[in-house]
Amino acid sequence: MTASESKFIIVGQGLAGSVLAYLLLQEGQRVHIYDSPDFPSSSKVAAGLYNPVTGRKLVKTWLAHQLFSFLETFYPQLETELNARFFYPQPIFRPFVNEESQKFFKSDHVPDDFSDFATLTFENTQYKSILQSQLGGVTTKHSGWVDLPAMLAAFKHYFTAKNLLTVGTIPTELLENNPTQTIIFCEGFSGRNNPYFNYLPFNPVKGEVLDIEIKNLYLTEIINQGAFVIPLEGESYRLGATYSWHELDFIPTEQGKNDLIEKYQKLMKPEMRILSHRAGVRPATKDRRPLIGLHPDFRHLGIFNGLGSKGVSLAPYFAKQFVDFLVYQKELHPEVNINRFASLYLGKK
Ligand SMILES: Cc1cc2nc3c(=O)[nH]c(=O)nc-3n(C[C@H](O)[C@H](O)[C@H](O)COP(=O)(O)OP(=O)(O)OC[C@H]3O[C@@H](n4cnc5c(N)ncnc54)[C@H](O)[C@@H]3O)c2cc1C
Repeated sequence: MTASESKFIIVGQGLAGSVLAYLLLQEGQRVHIYDSPDFPSSSKVAAGLYNPVTGRKLVKTWLAHQLFSFLETFYPQLETELNARFFYPQPIFRPFVNEESQKFFKSDHVPDDFSDFATLTFENTQYKSILQSQLGGVTTKHSGWVDLPAMLAAFKHYFTAKNLLTVGTIPTELLENNPTQTIIFCEGFSGRNNPYFNYLPFNPVKGEVLDIEIKNLYLTEIINQGAFVIPLEGESYRLGATYSWHELDFIPTEQGKNDLIEKYQKLMKPEMRILSHRAGVRPATKDRRPLIGLHPDFRHLGIFNGLGSKGVSLAPYFAKQFVDFLVYQKELHPEVNINRFASLYLGKK
């Protein structure tokens, strides 16, 4: 399918663009994608964790029921369709940070539906020789990680085989006076420079991760407190992540590496060795909600961005919702619809 024959043009084949293009195709829509290696990709750096219980207080994340039941069906079906392996459901053990936190979970302040997402233990029998904390913790259900580089490579193969992907940028003539096509920008971090959507309140966050080797550990769960340690293959693990609002680039730093080593030592006892180091920028937003919808004036232009640090859990559910909006004129969730920023647009005009 050439670009001119398609109804939808997607700009960017990261997590957002790939999932959106795929779900449009599932609805029988004609789609073409432009992706240029001249722009950075957060998805190729991301650790890929999905986790329904987050933050220091271990609260259930926004829309946890809807997002997690959707993704648990979506990714396994996608693996079958793309004939690739990238979805790794796994419990996450989150040790209590201190006695106060342990006390909170012993009290009856814990919400009733917490047990849908996690179980509690109050002593550390299983991880005695591995973890610094001995206070017990929370073990999450409905969590795990997605190998995003593997998923994107499989998507690339799938779109290329169908002749739906052009490596490069979208020709400018397609952007202007184009009444028959809808162009959706899925540019991640670079989206904040898009002249049509730069009025939106992006708040990008740099992050760094290390791949490490830990000998003779053979962890079967992800460990997460301050930092996360994800078991990969054999004795390899992924350690992440840092958060920084400065130097918004994809260059690994000495400071990032040292922060991660320090976080690791606070969390884990075994020695580790660094194998590789990478950095990227999360396409986050000021109100921590995605940016989805059509441009207020140019209704043939749209955006699917702002997935922040939770792209793996947000992308499938909201791509489906965006497809239903684009194809069947259904409502978008008001907290993700970019029309919540109409006043910013009017102020900039
Ligand atoms: C260190 C780090 C750790 C992270 N860990 C996690 C995690 O554990 N769990 C989680 O859910 N999320 C995590 N994230 C966030 C996750 O990476 C993002 O939410 C998600 O990948 C964003 O996907 P995207 O498709 O919007 O952007 P991207 O992945 O950046 O994709 C954008 C694509 O568009 C292309 N592009 C951009 N502009 C143009 C243009 N004008 N023309 C053509 N092509 C263009 C780029 O080349 C790229 O391929 C992490 C991010 C970082 C940096």
